[in-house]
Amino acid sequence: HPTAARRPDDAITVQSANTTYTDEFITAKFENRGADVVVLEEGRYTIKPTVKPFEFRTQRKVPKTGLMLVGWGGNNGTTLTATILANRHNISWHTKSTVQHPNYIGSLLRASTIRLGLDATGKDVYAPLSDLLPMVHPNDLVLGGWDISGASLDEAMKRAAVLEWDLQRQVAPFMKEMGAPLPSVYYPDYIAANQAERADNVLPGADKAVHLEKIRGDIREFKAAHGLDKVIVFWTANTERYSDIIPGVNDTADAILASIKTSHEEVAPSTLFAVASILEGSPFINGAPQNTFVPGVIELAERHGSFIGGDDLKSGQTKLKSVLAEFLVNAGIKPLSIASYNHLGNNDGWNLSSDRQFRSKEISKSSVVDDMVAANHLLYKTKAELEVANGGPLPKTKDGKEAKGEHPDHIVVIKYVPAVGDSKRAIDEYYSEIMGGGRSTINIFNECEDSLLATPLILDLSILAELLTRINYKEAGKDADFKPLYPVLSLLSYMLKAPLVKPGTDVVNSLSRQRNALETFLKACIGLEGSSDLLLETRIW
Ligand code: NAD
Repeated sequence: HPTAARRPDDAITVQSANTTYTDEFITAKFENRGADVVVLEEGRYTIKPTVKPFEFRTQRKVPKTGLMLVGWGGNNGTTLTATILANRHNISWHTKSTVQHPNYIGSLLRASTIRLGLDATGKDVYAPLSDLLPMVHPNDLVLGGWDISGASLDEAMKRAAVLEWDLQRQVAPFMKEMGAPLPSVYYPDYIAANQAERADNVLPGADKAVHLEKIRGDIREFKAAHGLDKVIVFWTANTERYSDIIPGVNDTADAILASIKTSHEEVAPSTLFAVASILEGSPFINGAPQNTFVPGVIELAERHGSFIGGDDLKSGQTKLKSVLAEFLVNAGIKPLSIASYNHLGNNDGWNLSSDRQFRSKEISKSSVVDDMVAANHLLYKTKAELEVANGGPLPKTKDGKEAKGEHPDHIVVIKYVPAVGDSKRAIDEYYSEIMGGGRSTINIFNECEDSLLATPLILDLSILAELLTRINYKEAGKDADFKPLYPVLSLLSYMLKAPLVKPGTDVVNSLSRQRNALETFLKACIGLEGSSDLLLETRIW
């Protein structure tokens, strides 16, 4: 399948004075164009366009890369493993209607394209996104990981009940060869009580410092055993409850390290894995919604220059919402309410049927329309405008919270329905105000096939995170030498429901803006301008 085809590492060559190729590096000059805006009274603005010269340098050699999954024995972990094995060994399987060949459909990198420009006849030319810079091929990822369930990978795949039987039958011997996941950290308070029945592969004791050292050792051993240059660690384990942010416990890097030493109860297993990865210099990505990245973990990542990304895979309902909400608001239509219902019957749904774990998911699903609403003050009055209209501070909301600016009502409901298994159903109602007091209602029914949608995202996140560790930059007049990117990889936002960004900067949820940012960045690294849809040549004589 073309999405699994091997492509040359030098598929794209840019011929420009701004782009230099050596055996080791691709170096490109780039001008970052922005605008400084001053908002004047009466809704007037003054704008000064800005230009800042940068250089990007990408290491060309693709390292031998390992991917260690926390929750390897779960639906995502086993689906990802079986998918890679099917592609690697070119295994095709019979469904009731056809012979299916393996592929990487759903991967932004492997299955989507970017527009490069025009050919001599004036036609658009498109290339796979993964052609832009040398990237790890998913087939080459060396897989490993941990799970609190000791089922071997072939048994775990069977338990997940995601893949066609004829595929399971053929990959099972390869999965069996991989053995069982490493024992993991299990603090029962963090996940639903209903998960206890599968927790038969857990690290002994309750000393968090000992657990941290064990995980660090596991990463080092895995790297050495497979002769790897780099290891990515990915949390695709159960959704945990939120951790309380407590001053002196997890608000600074020193505090979190000290709290691990004293085995403080507010250090979650996922936080322990994040800290272990940071200390080992392995990028860590959180595919679940909980606040693994408490402020102390972000500070620790900054201190070690180790990369982190999160939170929560954006595979189904939220991905569509980030498109639909933007479409409505950018069309000048005003959503008044967005009501989202989900039911699913896999182990993720079973875990989310518990209140505190559901709350984590509810939070990550809820913020997705915030920036689109904030971008249109014509439709939604800001808090300041409401205060002016009110002639003073706004009263608290009915549930006792601080009043915010105008915002659509937004609810998220998740229910566990075993019968539908991994095939999540998501139902959304978008109820909007249109001209002259009219109303418009859009209803969406979305069948999500959870793990088949999530697996390509895990691959994209891991492969991009690896690439971003190989890209250094230099700001003209500011930096003498090239240096790595900021540790919080917000360029991964496209695949994430509640993107973690550099503290103090705004989150972008719009799917098209997220894709555009990534595409513009990757193009900048080879000295190409970002994608403008101006197409001036089609508008002039
Ligand atoms: P799953 O329940 O099938 O798999 C999770 C695995 O993690 C289980 O095998 C469990 O035993 C293991 N586990 C739990 N705690 C652990 C720990 N401390 N250490 C190691 N292993 C542990 O769930 P899934 O469907 O594979 O989803 C995984 C995660 O991804 C969930 O948090 C889910 O909310 C999130 N997610 C999934 C999707 C999707 O579309 N599939 C989308 C967004 C987010």
